[in-house]
Amino acid sequence: MKQTKPTGSGADMDLITKDSAPPPNFIRYIIEEDQKTGRFDGRVVTRFPPEPNGYLHIGHAKSICVNFGFAREFGGACHLRFDDTNPAKEEVEYVDSIQEDVHWLGFDWGPHRYFASDYFDTLYGFAETLIQKGKAYVDSLSPDQIREYRGTLTEPGKESPYRNRSAAENLDLFRRMRAGEFADGEHVLRAKIDMAAPNILMRDPTLYRIRKTAHHRTGEAWCIYPLYDFTHCISDSIERVTHSLCTLEFENNRELYDWVLNQLEIYHPQQIEFARLNLSYTVLSKRKLIELVRGGHVAGWDDPRMPTISGLRRRGYTPESIRTFCKRIGVAKRDSMVDIALLDYCVREELNKRANRVMGVLRPLKVVIENYPEDRTEELEAINNPEDPSAGARQVPFSRELYIERDDFMENPPKKFFRLAPGREVRLRYAYFITCTDVIKDENGEATELRCTYDPETKGGDAPDGRKVKATLHWVSAPHALEAEVRLFNHLFLTENPSAAKGEFTDHLNPDSLEILPDCRLEPSLAEAGPGERFQFERLGYFCVDKASAPDLPIFNRIVTLRDTWAKIQKKAQKG
Ligand code: ATP
Ligand code: MG
Repeated sequence: MKQTKPTGSGADMDLITKDSAPPPNFIRYIIEEDQKTGRFDGRVVTRFPPEPNGYLHIGHAKSICVNFGFAREFGGACHLRFDDTNPAKEEVEYVDSIQEDVHWLGFDWGPHRYFASDYFDTLYGFAETLIQKGKAYVDSLSPDQIREYRGTLTEPGKESPYRNRSAAENLDLFRRMRAGEFADGEHVLRAKIDMAAPNILMRDPTLYRIRKTAHHRTGEAWCIYPLYDFTHCISDSIERVTHSLCTLEFENNRELYDWVLNQLEIYHPQQIEFARLNLSYTVLSKRKLIELVRGGHVAGWDDPRMPTISGLRRRGYTPESIRTFCKRIGVAKRDSMVDIALLDYCVREELNKRANRVMGVLRPLKVVIENYPEDRTEELEAINNPEDPSAGARQVPFSRELYIERDDFMENPPKKFFRLAPGREVRLRYAYFITCTDVIKDENGEATELRCTYDPETKGGDAPDGRKVKATLHWVSAPHALEAEVRLFNHLFLTENPSAAKGEFTDHLNPDSLEILPDCRLEPSLAEAGPGERFQFERLGYFCVDKASAPDLPIFNRIVTLRDTWAKIQKKAQKG
């Protein structure tokens, strides 16, 4: 079922939640038809073409799953092609991170790693072909004039006075552009199509421009660089791609894609557009993500709050859960907004089956069990994963001094609070029933220590006389506890669609998106956990050991809570 997004929160898009049925995949249908008719000789070749100007985000993961997924499904190949035609913004760091992220997501391009810059010679040759055919010309208007001459959606453009240069003159100028005789912006090469075309992209689009900038792969070899619309279709053609899958914003570019290949009379893949992923409470645009990093709003590309693949990885999301998420949202022709809770749901479902349970106390409150011998320690058996009997059990130490969660105690509990309070009995998970007998407080009246008694007859968590308690608490033995830092995360933005909200998108950052708890106490078995390992902390959520975690300062990131608490908070806020 689809819900319509509440108005006033941005564009009018469907909201996809965990209850939505995935849309039928129209691209699969097209490929199947092509297989039947023998178009492309039954081959399926797709490509994932990132521009190496930033880290990949979850939107790219969708594109990766679609492209590599179809190649896998139909026994074809998916190429990884770096669309590196803009020398000014691209860096090797990004190339490396992109490869790492694609591999981590579980996909492999095999021998098919390409760079658009490897085609610079071929592309240049095709540009000369277009000139010779009278289909391209060197324009000498200034960039501002070119913009002016282009016209608008309602008015046709104007032809440049340089439009009718002879092929010989164009060829001469183009070669001199390449030789470095002119300054940036002095000339450009344009396709000669139609300045009155209803599709503005067809109004003599620029194919090449002068950029006297070194390139991270070709160095100083070039001072003219081809533009996207010229490069992309030819790269697809060179690689004999069959289905060139891209996002909807390239719908208008398809006409130009087809035009270039038709003029050159070379192999012609089919471009198919699908809706990009939009995710609530975050931004998915490299430009905006760069701004978050450079502006110091986050700690880096892999900040666990970032929607980047590296951020999700550091936070503890699994590649499987991201692939499941991409499958759930499906591929459609219409833009939508996906509820970020769906991503959390996917990782929760998976970790519920896979993650071992442990006990950890995030905001410790000391408990002293007065009738428990001072010098005694017991090892109690705790089940690792009730969803997976093969995960077995472990021993957890119990002693006279423990920590429980501060939230699990109230001195003057309201009616619906069933956890520990003076005079009340509760169960400690896997251990005993305890009763609170006294509260020690500091000068502000805040509880600093609870005095309790335990019932030795309730070992394992059941009373032989059948009496019941209303709450089961997690706990950690104080002398055995591992001290750790735990980081809790919340949505990076306060509004569902920060890109469409008023003002700067950074105005809508959530000031409470990160909470660091420096003084947590965890069960000692966690001392052996290494970076990337994931656990369920009973009652608190799923956690992952941070990559910066060290034996003298273990750090755990919360991946998700056990339930979708945000939805509840939102509902309350809407009511109130
Ligand atoms: P951004 O808009 O974040 O800057 P981009 O489109 O400029 O991204 P590219 O490196 O050009 O980034 O993208 C590589 C591929 O990933 C393209 O095919 C693009 O269509 C696809 N892609 C980018 N963002 C999304 C998204 N949100 N959902 C689905 N696919 C996406
Ligand atoms: Mg792009």
